[in-house]
Amino acid sequence: MISLQEVSKSYKSGEGIFEAVQSVSLTVREGTIHGIIGPSGAGKSTLLRMMNVLELPDQGKVMVGGKDLTTLPEKELRLARRSIGMIFQQFHLLNNRTVSGNVSVPLELAGIGKKQRKERVQECLKFVGLPDKARQYPAMLSGGQKQRVAIARALAHRPSLLLCDEPTSSLDPGTTAEILDVLRHINKTLGVTIVIVTHEMDVVKEVCHAVSVVEQGRLTDGFELEVRPGKS
Ligand code: ADP
Ligand code: ADP
Repeated sequence: MISLQEVSKSYKSGEGIFEAVQSVSLTVREGTIHGIIGPSGAGKSTLLRMMNVLELPDQGKVMVGGKDLTTLPEKELRLARRSIGMIFQQFHLLNNRTVSGNVSVPLELAGIGKKQRKERVQECLKFVGLPDKARQYPAMLSGGQKQRVAIARALAHRPSLLLCDEPTSSLDPGTTAEILDVLRHINKTLGVTIVIVTHEMDVVKEVCHAVSVVEQGRLTDGFELEVRPGKS
């Protein structure tokens, strides 16, 4: 369903250029949870951001749902991106908006009417187990609750793909387990394909069906993981 085909990305650094990702090809099977693991600075986040073309590769193709996102005109890309949700290590919530207001953001940007927004926001908050927090502000929430709100926002457009950039790296082990449960639930009941970038092997072992290993901008290994009870 998603494949990166020989993607490369360089950044200017001082006088020279730095190759953050060098000719990486990888396929994420539809309906799976796919991990991308590697040390800090390996290029994992850059790879993830190429999957929705937040970062445009210098070379290579990004095939999602049969289309190469790198060649789509801006308007079509915007539509394609609606079916791709994203969450981050630091949640990226808007502190001056309530929980509902945050989940509503992508729907507002897409011009969805008020009534439908309200229904969708409630549905998403219910799904992540926070229906009673709708009127609160992010500052009043724990880290785990903030990440749930971010997940609800990422689900607002009912995506088929969810990209997660170090989703548990700022959470304690207990909260990490809860968030991984939410991701597993999304994969299982909504059929959403999930890609998780992490430097934590425990996260990979807990929820991923397959893993790609990235080091110094290159794919160095890839393997399938045994499906454990409760995992698939
Ligand atoms: P990881 O997610 O594995 O920690 P990243 O993809 O964030 O790695 O970064 C890979 C390398 O590319 C790092 O050395 C980082 O400093 C560099 N890099 C990432 N984004 C940019 C950018 N926008 N400009 C310049 N260098 C960047
Ligand atoms: P702008 O057009 O102002 O750049 P953005 O698309 O960046 O707006 O959205 C504003 C906020 O909403 C950002 O914090 C962004 O992370 C978040 N956001 C928008 N769409 C989504 C989505 N589908 N999934 C997760 N967060 C989203």
